[in-house]
Amino acid sequence: MHSDDERPFWLSAPCPTWCATRHRDADAPRFREHVSEPVRVLLSSMSPRAGGGRYYTEITLHQGYREVSPLIHITATRHLLCTLDEARELGAALLDVARRGAGGSE
Ligand SMILES: [Zn+2]
Repeated sequence: MHSDDERPFWLSAPCPTWCATRHRDADAPRFREHVSEPVRVLLSSMSPRAGGGRYYTEITLHQGYREVSPLIHITATRHLLCTLDEARELGAALLDVARRGAGGSE
């Protein structure tokens, strides 16, 4: 996020309120995008079946500096395997990120 004084030359408008990216003049064009902090949902039910480690999915907003609205990126450490409670948490997290991407107006 940047104020008008700190904004790099290629960024003609302020960052969306959800942007957590530190933009720089030297950012290559393919990296000129707004990205939110990730929302992580731990999937504890996957651990016994998938072996050791922590499994999760992350949801972030990405918006290219010339795009008019963000896209929601969903990544996961493996194929998703959720309990019903985890699926509800994941659904709530998706709705929350979609609301933030729309500027909190939905
Ligand atoms: Zn930004």
